[in-house]
Amino acid sequence: MRFSRREFLKVAAAAAAAGRLTPAALASLGRVLRIEGGPRVIWLQGAGCDGDAISFLNSIHYATVDSLLTTTIDLEFQNNLMAVTGDMAVSVGEAAGAEPGYILVVEGAIPVGGDGKYCTVWHGLSMYDAVVEFSQNASFILALGTCASFGGVTAGAPNPTNSQGVGGVLGSDDRLINLPGCPAHPDWLVGTIVYLLTNGYVPPLDEHRRPLEFFGRRIHDNCFNRREYCGQGINFAPELSGEGCKELLGCKGKRTYADCPMRKWNSDGSGEFGVNWCIGSGTTCLGCVEPGFPDALSPFYVYLPTPDGTESPDDGDRGTTVGGPEKKVTNRPDNHREMGEISGHDDHN
Ligand code: SF4
Ligand code: SF4
Repeated sequence: MRFSRREFLKVAAAAAAAGRLTPAALASLGRVLRIEGGPRVIWLQGAGCDGDAISFLNSIHYATVDSLLTTTIDLEFQNNLMAVTGDMAVSVGEAAGAEPGYILVVEGAIPVGGDGKYCTVWHGLSMYDAVVEFSQNASFILALGTCASFGGVTAGAPNPTNSQGVGGVLGSDDRLINLPGCPAHPDWLVGTIVYLLTNGYVPPLDEHRRPLEFFGRRIHDNCFNRREYCGQGINFAPELSGEGCKELLGCKGKRTYADCPMRKWNSDGSGEFGVNWCIGSGTTCLGCVEPGFPDALSPFYVYLPTPDGTESPDDGDRGTTVGGPEKKVTNRPDNHREMGEISGHDDHN
């Protein structure tokens, strides 16, 4: 059985993420995965489950992960995918961070308590210090997943490690783009990277610094339950397996902004959108992309009024699909960065 280089990379990248490659094989993989001259990406993983990295490996729509890694970006540091380990990995990370102009991807929350020692990137470097230090030379900072964006599950009460999202550590920063999700959809990361490479500046964002392209509409506005069932006499589902709107069963679609109903998850590999999503598979939207998830969206399977109280479950507006409330666009000319500020790197050893 012969593999094409493209097929090999796809399998190898998945195997590397699953921890099935030996150090020697990883070294070989690293030599072919790193490309010369592409925009440089440094990917830090903090307090989380690595789910966003695994989700990233399913990228199909904008670009497959192997084409992204071999022809588009230079992924200089990423725990799961990089070639080297141990002291050599530390040296690679330190050298990468010393050269300005990269895209910094942060996955997982940042424990601030205990002087940061609840989570280390490598011996002697806490995740907190790593985010502060690596952000200094970054052109853009992508907080990938809800933990990195807002603290997420890691910061759930009582949060003994005082974990925070990137914004909680860095404060206001016009380079920061939040890409929440538990996990984040691969399209949200790859699409944002493609946008940055194409335009050279931060895309239009909402008040939580999420790209409007992906997070500009409520789940509820595009839910098939609203279009197909509501207003047709079926209304609310009596149980999760039943047909109809799941709001009384705890669906948070009215307060959740994401394009899951159209984009869906798990593409069949044709390059098209995915095959299913949470409500499509019979459950509810848990609101996983929202600040405060999971605590503020809990209990998951109990009806909660929308925070502003403007819509009751029987709001009488269910037979039509309408746009969500206008979202505040926060990108301004002064947070546009020129393409040249994402530097390539042509000095790999
Ligand atoms: S409340 Fe949930 S299930 Fe009901 S229409 Fe809205 S998003 Fe769909
Ligand atoms: S439908 Fe809701 S819970 Fe499911 S992935 Fe999308 S935002 Fe998260």
